[in-house]
Formats: sequence, structure tokens, C-alpha cells
Amino acid sequence: MRNSLYLTTLGILIISCGSQQKTVKSKTPVKSTTPVALVPVKKPEIKQDEGEYYKVNIADITKNDNTVSYGSIVSANPAGYKVTKNYFPSVGQNFRQRYVILHYTVLDDEKSISTLTQQAVSAHYLVNTLPDKEIYQLVDENKRSYHAGVSNWRKDQNLNDTSVGIEIVNMGYTVDSTGLRVFTPFPEEQIKKVAALVKDLVVRYNIQPTNVLAHSDIAPTRKQDPGPLFPWKRLYDEYQIGMWYDETAKQTFLNQILTTNEITLQYNNPEFVSRVQQQLAQFGYALSVNGVWNAATKQTIEAFQFHFRPMNYNGIMDAESLAILQALIQKYPQK
Ligand SMILES: [Zn+2]
Repeated sequence: MRNSLYLTTLGILIISCGSQQKTVKSKTPVKSTTPVALVPVKKPEIKQDEGEYYKVNIADITKNDNTVSYGSIVSANPAGYKVTKNYFPSVGQNFRQRYVILHYTVLDDEKSISTLTQQAVSAHYLVNTLPDKEIYQLVDENKRSYHAGVSNWRKDQNLNDTSVGIEIVNMGYTVDSTGLRVFTPFPEEQIKKVAALVKDLVVRYNIQPTNVLAHSDIAPTRKQDPGPLFPWKRLYDEYQIGMWYDETAKQTFLNQILTTNEITLQYNNPEFVSRVQQQLAQFGYALSVNGVWNAATKQTIEAFQFHFRPMNYNGIMDAESLAILQALIQKYPQK
């Protein structure tokens, strides 16, 4: 209770500034004879959204209702004491949930449930293939689930720490007689469930468009999910979820950069390879710039194509893929 809090002594003055802390003992301890009620300090406004802090003070309990993030205040219950949170919310905080990562299970509905609940892999949510209205929650959003593994995006790594993982029930791909991968389509009802779920998450946690990603984006050398049939463009167009390039910017870059024939001529030139690697890394993929068409580079191009140019995902950097990559770098620069 605010009115029952009093200061009786002020012997130690603590000055705190950023990471520096100084403890200064005042020469003459001030003794207060009349109780002084603590008055809530006026909270500063958050001026801008830098991706780290929020336009809404998420600590402000009057605003921290279901419209922002329900369940985000978890408090200690120390024996014999009361934790007061109403009057001391800090502006310097953000959500731990900064990414949404999408997967497919390569298992049917039943096996997806048993595997993700009984083995050392998990996800926060599981979206079945059924035309019902249910989405399964397997892990509390405030806890880590084990879905991302070794993973990187931009300056971040180990994305299990900072993400909400969504597993989509889907059988992945089979390989046909010509060696081509044939991916399994997602039912319409399932896509709608995934879109509604992701939309809810990005709104509640203010997750940046650049942080709604495929497992293949954050682990391109290991993972292909959720694959080229997952409709990222549709999620962007219909639900304003995630990243997509502007067509005019893509055309502009396409006119400026090399033609496909010119790319073919210099494809094995280490300078060209380095430039492609550098641009993929600049966009966000974890990739070494070494001028060599190694497996990691091809897999990263493939992951990029799965997400942004799914009509052809052969792992070869053609003119259209390069133009899309440059349009995305321009639209979503790293801060
Ligand atoms: Zn996955």
C-alpha cells in the first residue's frame, strides 16, 4: 500500500546511472521525525521505438492488460514480505519474446503431439491439420521451448532464448524419381490458424517484421522448414506479418544489376561470390564471406529462396534473387 510506506532514515544515498553504481555515505545521516509518504515519480515518456523499447510502457500496470501482454508480470512471493509493483515500474525493459520462428514437424498430428510433449524437443504452440478452431499450447510463452537449436539471425544467436516457436503439422517433402523435392501443401484452415496465432504474438510483444522467420532462416545449413510452400507473401499481404519486398524496388534493382547472363559469366569469380555472401550476411543470415561457393552459401541462398522467391529454390543466386535481396536490405536495414 502506498500510504503505509514511510522513510524513517536516509543514511545511505545510492546513485545509479546506467551500469555504474556508486554508494555514497552522507556525512550526517538525516533522521526524519515525521513519516514521509512515498509519492510515485512521474514516469518519463518513451520517445521512440528502436526495436528494444516500446511506445507503450509495458511496465505500467494500468496499461499492461490483455491488450499489451497478458501474463507478463510474474512476481516473487518472499516469505514475510510484500512485493510492490504498482508504483515502481521501470521504463528500461522489453519483452524477452523478440522472435517468432515457424517450423514444420515432418510428423502427422498424433505423432507431432507425442514427440513434442514427451521428448527433448518442443515448441510453444502446435498447429494441427484439422479444420477445427483449436491450437495447442505446449509451453508457457514466458518459458523457453526447445525448437530452434543452434541458430543465428543478425546480431542474435541461440534464438530459443528469445523466441516463441510454432510447429506446424506437415509431412515435409519426399524426393521424386528425378531427385526433386516435393513438398507437402498446407491446408487452408491450417494457414489461417498459423496467421491468426502469429498476428496475436507480434501485436502483443511488438515483434519486429525482421524477426518473424523460418527455422531455415536461422539455421540454413541444417533446416528446410517450413519450406517453400509456406505462404510468407500472403501473411504479409493479408495479415501484415513479417517481411516482404516492394515490387518497384525489386524492378529498380533488377534494372541496375547484372543480367542473368552476366551473372552466369562471372558466377565463379571470388569477388562476385564474396559480394553475394556479404549481402546475405548484411540482410541477416549467419554466413562467412570467403569467396567460395561452399555448401553453407548454397544452403543459405536456398533458405532465402524458400522464404522470398519460392517459385525456384535451386540455391543458385540469379538476377531476380539478387534484386529481391537488395530490395529487402534497403527496406529492412540492420540498425
Ligand atoms: Zn524446425
